[in-house]
Amino acid sequence: MGLVKRGNDLWFYEDLYSDVTYGFKVKKIIISEKATGYQRLMILDTERFGRVLVLDGIVQLTEEDEGIYHEWIGLWPVFAQMKTPENVLIIGGGDGGVAREVLRHPGVKSVTMAEIDKVVVDACREHMPAISAGIWDDPRFHLIIGDGAEVIRKMRGQCDVVIIDSTDPIGPAQSLFDTSFYESVYDALREDGITIHQTGALLLQPFEAPGSWRQMERIFDDVRVVQFTNVSYMGGPFSLTAGSRGRRVFKAAEQNAKRNFKAAGIKTSWYSPDISAMPYPEFQRRLEIDKYGEEVVLDFALPARKTPALKQVGKWSRDLCKAIDMIAFGEPMVSNAELGDGDTLVQYIETSAINYRRFGNIAATNCFTCARLPVDKAVAFTTEYFGARKAVGWNLPRGAFSDIKTVRRDTRIFEAGPDVVPGSGSAVLRPRLAEAAEVFKPSFKLPVETGFSPAFELVLDIYGCDFDRISSCEAVAAWVKESAKLAGLKTIGKPEAPDFGHAKKKTAGPSVTQLLRGGSNISHYSINWLMIVVNLVAREAVPLRQVITHAMDYFRGTKAHCWILPRGAADKSLKEIAENTVLFEVRRD
Ligand code: SAM
Repeated sequence: MGLVKRGNDLWFYEDLYSDVTYGFKVKKIIISEKATGYQRLMILDTERFGRVLVLDGIVQLTEEDEGIYHEWIGLWPVFAQMKTPENVLIIGGGDGGVAREVLRHPGVKSVTMAEIDKVVVDACREHMPAISAGIWDDPRFHLIIGDGAEVIRKMRGQCDVVIIDSTDPIGPAQSLFDTSFYESVYDALREDGITIHQTGALLLQPFEAPGSWRQMERIFDDVRVVQFTNVSYMGGPFSLTAGSRGRRVFKAAEQNAKRNFKAAGIKTSWYSPDISAMPYPEFQRRLEIDKYGEEVVLDFALPARKTPALKQVGKWSRDLCKAIDMIAFGEPMVSNAELGDGDTLVQYIETSAINYRRFGNIAATNCFTCARLPVDKAVAFTTEYFGARKAVGWNLPRGAFSDIKTVRRDTRIFEAGPDVVPGSGSAVLRPRLAEAAEVFKPSFKLPVETGFSPAFELVLDIYGCDFDRISSCEAVAAWVKESAKLAGLKTIGKPEAPDFGHAKKKTAGPSVTQLLRGGSNISHYSINWLMIVVNLVAREAVPLRQVITHAMDYFRGTKAHCWILPRGAADKSLKEIAENTVLFEVRRD
């Protein structure tokens, strides 16, 4: 939106989100929007916030509340140190606000600011001089005009603090959110050194801080999120993610800050070592989650002449909810009230879904939650409920933020039930890890094509999806339809995306189900994690490569973890089931 005339007044509305915005009245345009070669710059004057710097339609700072952000991102890493930091590098920060705060510490010997866009520096210095007050005459201050991702590579072992005060991970700042950049930052830090990076609004950009957390966790010896709130970064709780070289500094951060702040003797308006900047527990939980959810898939022979009717299966799905301490959402969906061979029942639960189908006398169930799943309880309840003597099970880490080898290690294939004698070969097996190239070869055969099982399940976790493509049920439902057509699968009815209100959306994210003849496509997706997790069950073979690449193209995913499970083959040995369970990764670099 940008600048908008409202009556006789001029207003500015921020362009960060497609479905949320905020605006303020503009008294005067100081610099109308101009291209700097890196971004579009604008400086506005307002009654409410004073002067405002806008880059690419996004508010970078206002004179009214810049102090909150600049004191926290500038002083938190400086005072959390084991000892007074000497060399501080600021990447970005062209307005000079962070440098201003750091240079207030008398003990700091050198502050280098590596800013890519000289136009920002000059514009702020001229039109918002209060922000960078005093830095230009400070002999400790050095300005480098250049890409911070390049500059940092030449500073191995030279920095006590690296502050990344950049724009969001688009345009010139994209390189500042890469793993290789974080590795260079780690190399630039001295022992006990700290880096800190603005990582977005915890509620409105729920995928940014957890994404940076996971990336930084792999590189730095310790990671922390510092939470603060100001006005011009819309959306309430905002995050700074910090990483350390060495594990002791964050453990001592609070007491270091109290000691160092007192010793420095500087007055602050917003930062205080007595304020715990720890994230709210829910945010900390989201940061530490190592996967989107967990699933247990079970196939077992039904006792002779005991084909369960819809009523009994419906009761199972609701009772299982109770058994695993989950809430059922709505009534079960069924492809056919007879619940005959290949028909599907889906019961939504607060954090995804439970589903059932039968192939001959083999019942095939799935229980998927976006929270911790008491797997043993779910398995025991289901086998007892249906009187199954022995079940084959798969326990899948869904939407895991780990590499494919770890996903394989965490995928458990097992047997359960009264006939399974503990220890007698009831081992836990792993799937076969394959290359996507092998699976995409025409010679690769699905379990239904080899006759190994009457059905198969493609389990697909797609990461790094495009926000707009996974932020609406309509967009996902459109994909489900296209995908079923592409796969040549016969659909029953339309894709269903029941709206259970925000409660479900908040916990797991919405779901879309397309019932198919002899199967189903059940998808859950999360804007929190920018991912979609799909379970496609079918009795007919599908063109795997087309189905998977179509999904990745549609959601603009960067990577996918894919499992192929042989369903309905509970009469086979565990070893054979494991050999026919294939796990592979598809990347879209
Ligand atoms: N505090 C603001 C925020 O959190 O949104 C950031 C303000 S500061 C002006 C952001 C600066 O980062 C911009 O001046 C931009 O030019 C700079 N920047 C973006 N990418 C950069 C890069 N790769 N290297 C150095 N500076 C960069």
